[in-house]
Amino acid sequence: MREERQTSVAAGSSDGRAQGRPEGAGRSTGQGLRLRIAHLFPELLNLYGDGGNILTLVKRCQWRGITPEVMEVSYGERPSFSDVDLAFIGGGSDREQAIVCEQLLAVGDELRSFVEDDGVLLAVCGGYQLLGHSYLMGDRRLEGLSLVDLDTDRGDPRLIGNIEIESRIQDMPIVGYENHGGRTTLGPGVEPLGRVRHGHGNDGTSGMEGCLYRNVVGTYIHGPLLPKNPGVADWLIGRALRRRYGRAVELAPLDDAQERAANAVMCARMDAGEK
Ligand code: GLN
Repeated sequence: MREERQTSVAAGSSDGRAQGRPEGAGRSTGQGLRLRIAHLFPELLNLYGDGGNILTLVKRCQWRGITPEVMEVSYGERPSFSDVDLAFIGGGSDREQAIVCEQLLAVGDELRSFVEDDGVLLAVCGGYQLLGHSYLMGDRRLEGLSLVDLDTDRGDPRLIGNIEIESRIQDMPIVGYENHGGRTTLGPGVEPLGRVRHGHGNDGTSGMEGCLYRNVVGTYIHGPLLPKNPGVADWLIGRALRRRYGRAVELAPLDDAQERAANAVMCARMDAGEK
């Protein structure tokens, strides 16, 4: 069964950021393409502005003449991922994670095929934890999707504050905010998304943050993640388009001055010792 609400947003719609659109957008290689995004359980998993990740993906597509379509998947719905290019799972409280857990497991096989077929998946915090084998919350165990070899165990105290990491998928640090009780351990051979420069990351001790597996990015970074980290957004969009169209799509450059300035302000604050 496939139930969904869909928002189709016209390509190149104006938002007053004319200077943010590429020169000669009509010649951009992204022009005329489309990208289908699945946003899983937005009503339950949406901490610290996680929904802003979807807005960022939508706008960065539109500015390049790529048509984004967003399929919101709500509690009780069983989506098909056959026509999905990029899926997003946000963060949530332990309670909300427990609610969505069985919903996710119900589409676990489809999600696994999607990931192994190089589907692009971004999962933040609570969503990231559910990519793994399990999330242990004291004497309660939530079974995860086992899409990536990792495990999470709740600890004390919560790991809270601004975070900055170095990652190979962005040419400047990835910055944002974290607030989690879970400590995540990566299985041998699972690459972290990056190395912690400030903040806690996966467990507060290993110096690792998040995971990178095929086209899956898991991370504890909220804030939301993508507005201040446009390189990560473009990494996801580029991978998704390459898979849909079977060829590398060169994304037209955008004017990211504001995004870069926001990122730099956070880095400067953390370098100055602000939490
Ligand atoms: N409930 C999880 C934890 O506390 C995830 C929290 C989150 O998504 N911010 O670890």
